[in-house]
Amino acid sequence: MKCNQCQSEMVEDCKVNVEFDTPGITISKKGKGLFNKVSAKSKAAVCSNCGYVAFYIDKYKEFSK
Ligand SMILES: [Zn+2]
Repeated sequence: MKCNQCQSEMVEDCKVNVEFDTPGITISKKGKGLFNKVSAKSKAAVCSNCGYVAFYIDKYKEFSK
């Protein structure tokens, strides 16, 4: 993953921590039907050159359904 700001290689797979010890941010999208909900835990990538932080998920392809 390249940094949006300076095009340096970013450090991926960083754990996302928010307040109160919540284990990461979960992103979900409601689909059609009862069991058609997709969700994914977000990860962060950090640029060690300029400090830019990007959030991403692994199962992004499921969100296009
Ligand atoms: Zn950067």
